[in-house]
Parts: sequence; structure tokens; C-alpha cells
Amino acid sequence: MTRAISLLGSTGSIGRQTLDVCAELGIRVEALTANSNIELLEQQTRQFMPRLVVLYEETAAQRFQERISDLNIPVLHGIDGLIAAASMEESDTVVTAVVGMIGLRPTLAAIEKGKRIALANKETLVCAGELVMGSARQYGAEIIPVDSEHSAIFQCLQGCNSSDEVKRLILTCSGGPFFGLKKDEVDKKTKADALRHPNWKMGEKITIDCATLMNKGLEFIEAMRLFDVPADQISVVIHRQSIIHSMVEYRDGSVIAQMGTPDMRLPIRYALTYPARAHSPLPPLDLLSCPPLTFHEPDTTVFPALRLAMECARIGGTSCAVLNGANEEAVGLFLRNEIEFGQIPELVSGALDAIEVKYNAQLSDILEADRCARLYVREAH
Ligand code: NDP
Ligand code: MG
Repeated sequence: MTRAISLLGSTGSIGRQTLDVCAELGIRVEALTANSNIELLEQQTRQFMPRLVVLYEETAAQRFQERISDLNIPVLHGIDGLIAAASMEESDTVVTAVVGMIGLRPTLAAIEKGKRIALANKETLVCAGELVMGSARQYGAEIIPVDSEHSAIFQCLQGCNSSDEVKRLILTCSGGPFFGLKKDEVDKKTKADALRHPNWKMGEKITIDCATLMNKGLEFIEAMRLFDVPADQISVVIHRQSIIHSMVEYRDGSVIAQMGTPDMRLPIRYALTYPARAHSPLPPLDLLSCPPLTFHEPDTTVFPALRLAMECARIGGTSCAVLNGANEEAVGLFLRNEIEFGQIPELVSGALDAIEVKYNAQLSDILEADRCARLYVREAH
């Protein structure tokens, strides 16, 4: 069980819910980090009194230092600040709840210190999964998934004796707000439409990824890396109600599912208390009042982002970093109303065609693939 955490991305959706769980379970918060949201970070700092606070943006860090000058808590900035928070001796677990590939170097730093990683930041595993998992094995660091589907699979794998027993991982997918629509209808959807997710309240980037189904594509790659399972042993099924969070099919035909009301505090709590389970104050799942559970095949013609990600999962090398970098950049453009919804997968596909794949990639190759993908999208849109 975790005693003390460093929380990367404390002002975000996962970050705020992690603090709820820490308050509930009496887990100490040693470091808080954000990008620029100084108002919320000040409230969190006064409530949790960490040893270190980091704001990625330097000017925000300077303003923040003045606001908390009465507290005598150091304030750092930039990637070095995030790495310092991730490496702190006092934290046994690092919760990676930042959005995007910016989480990669701090995650690697925490792994090198042998800490438990409660991993929400899926972009890190998508870009550099082999590197991250290899490093975790080398330093004996546990990576416990926070993403609800991966937490579900992780839970369904408890008690599994050997990977030979696993036939297939089945990732469930809500289908997002545009499920059942035609491609020309989906491609014209606005930012407001895309930000209306049926089941989950999350940060903007992941909410757009849920609407394009890129989120499920990223999760497909995340599952391959976390559980060391080849792409042809993973499938995706649309399950609109988000009650079954994912499943594992075993070779004897048993399918084990993890269920619960859709609330991220459940997987966050498990990642912090694993292998134990703590009491939850949330209302229990009421099977008699929940809607009928339905399943459909995903439509990768209407949602090509999922197909692109599944292709990258098979290609491997730096293709996954290109996919992710191009997607982060394209989603940023869409959120600033600079491109249309349908251009997101088009730009990602263009980047994948234009940028050469490298195998046996080192960190520098991954960072370069990410840089080229972002540049491609900025120039091509
Ligand atoms: P949010 O956008 O709500 O929060 C992102 C956090 O990261 C904020 O604290 C933000 O700070 C910080 N941040 C953003 N950019 C930077 C940067 N350049 N440097 C340092 N910190 C930065 O995202 P979510 O909480 O929704 O998602 C976080 C991660 O968890 C993502 O990878 C997402 O895919 C994953 N995830 C989220 C789920 C959810 O339910 N929300 C479910 C499963 C996975 P600031 O507030 O100052 O901008
Ligand atoms: Mg998920």
C-alpha cells in the first residue's frame, strides 16, 4: 500500500480525483505539479502541504512562488522540476496524471528510483512502451495501470499463473458521443459536440480522443505494452454503458470481466492500495437498476483513428510515437478551432505516411519521431 505520492498533473481530472482518494485513505502528498493553473494549485498546496510544488511554465512558477511565500515550500519549473518531483525520496509512488508525452522523462526518472508508478498518462506508454517497460523490469519498478480498461485487465489477470493461459484481452469502448452516425456527419462535428462524452467527465484532450476513437487506439497499444501481449490477441468491443471496464478470455473459455460504476476513483484507489483493496465511499454498482449491457463491433471506416492505431501496434518501432505526436498536435489544433473534426485522423494518417519508422528506438529516436510528427501536422493543416 502506498504511503506517500508525488502527483504529476494534480490540477487535472485524474489529479483532482487522486487527491480525493489520498484524503480518504490518509496518503501523504509530497509533491504537486501542474502546467499553469495557479489558482487551483494554491488551494491544493494549502490543503495538502507538500514538500515541493512544480509549475511547468516558468512565469506561472514565479507568480506562484509569490502567492505562497508564507508557506516556505520550494517551487520549481520546467521538465527538470517535473523530474525532481518524480524522483523525490519521500514518495514511494508517483501518480502520472499529466496529459501527453511530456510525462515520459519524469516517468523514466521515477522508474530509475524503483518507485511504484500509478500510470494514467497513456501517451507515455504509447510512445515509448518498450523503453518504459524494459526500464521498469531493470529497476524493479511496478507499473500499475490507472486507465480504467487496463486496471480492469490487471484485476482480471490476478491469479493468472502463466501468460500461456491468456487467449485474448478484450478492451471495452463506450463508442463516444458519435456512435452510430455516418462518416460525413461525424466529420463535421464541432468542438462542443465532441466534448460531450456520454459516460465520463475528463480532460479535454482525452475527451476528443474518445470522440475520434483514437483513445481506444492508444489504449490498444497501451495494453500490448503493459501486458506484453501481441496485437492479434487484443480486441475491442463497443459497450455503450461503460459498466464492464474490460475482460480477459482464458484458453479454457472462461471470460473474466471487471465491472463497476464508471468512476475513475475506483482504478485510482486500486493502483494506490494494490494488492490490497480499500473501502470505497462511492455508491455500489446496482445491477438491477443499470441499463441492459450491449456489445457492438467498432466501425473503423467511420472512425479511422482506431484502425491507424491498430496498424501502428503491428508495425511497432517509432510509428506509435508518430501516431501519438501527430494526434496530440491535431487535437490541439481542433481545440483551438483551427481544423475540422474529420481532419484529425487525416493529419495523423499523413504524418504516418510521411515519416520513416525506426526500429530498436532509443529515447532520442522517440523524441525525434514526436518532433517530426508535430511539425508535419503544423505544416500540413
Ligand atoms: P487534464 O487535462 O484534466 O489534466 C492534465 C494535467 O496535466 C493538468 O494538471 C495540467 O496542468 C497538466 N499539464 C498539462 N500540460 C502540461 C505540461 N506541459 N507540463 C506539465 N503539466 C502539464 O487531463 P486528464 O486528467 O483527463 O488526463 C490525464 C492523463 O490521464 C491523460 O494521459 C489521459 O489520457 C489519462 N486518462 C484520463 C482519464 C480521465 O478520466 N480523465 C481516464 C484514463 C486515462 P494545468 O491544469 O495547469 O493545465
Ligand atoms: Mg480508458
